[in-house]
Amino acid sequence: MHWVKKWYWQCMAREAVDIFNKKGYDARYAEDTEEAKKIILDLIPEGSSVAVGGSMTLDAMGLVDIFRTDKYKFFERFKTSGYAETYQVYRQSFLADFLVTGSSAITRNGEIVNTDSSGNRAAGIILGPERVIIAVGANKLVDDLPAAFDRIKKVAPQNAKRIGHHCPCVETGYCVNCDHPESVCNATSIIHNGRKHPGRYTVVIIAEELGL
Ligand code: SF4
Repeated sequence: MHWVKKWYWQCMAREAVDIFNKKGYDARYAEDTEEAKKIILDLIPEGSSVAVGGSMTLDAMGLVDIFRTDKYKFFERFKTSGYAETYQVYRQSFLADFLVTGSSAITRNGEIVNTDSSGNRAAGIILGPERVIIAVGANKLVDDLPAAFDRIKKVAPQNAKRIGHHCPCVETGYCVNCDHPESVCNATSIIHNGRKHPGRYTVVIIAEELGL
């Protein structure tokens, strides 16, 4: 990465950490994915049960394979016989010790915004697992909720393509506000601050451009 790009993401990440700590979250700065991975693993005691949201940022850290080892009890949502089984894993995941996930967007008002196909991430972040760890690249920081929704609609077609859905935007590359059964935009959650359950949310903000 060009040094001036790195400088830019460092500035964005530092700003976001400051905002999120003021809004009642436990926000941490990570220079890169290696440092973020260490922060996350240090937070999760061995023996914990762990659920994850689908996330290219987590993929970049190789965390899912670590959670599959016998050090953790992993809610295996990726190797199921089909959606009916996946859905049961999603429901059981609400009782996990930890949810580790990326996020669609974070805002300069300290909001965490997620739009999902199934709602497992959106719902779990609100009130599911005991602890929630959200890892995001600094590129996920936007000004406000309208900008977050713009961002979500811009990247959702790429996500739909990535995970093999057959909604209209995989043909167009842009959102057509579909009403399709394979839409990836069925549930949205907004966390406004971390004050209701102090210590529940850790937001790891990485000084890199990650995910879509
Ligand atoms: S609403 Fe439909 S068309 Fe728009 S991004 Fe979501 S899945 Fe694609």
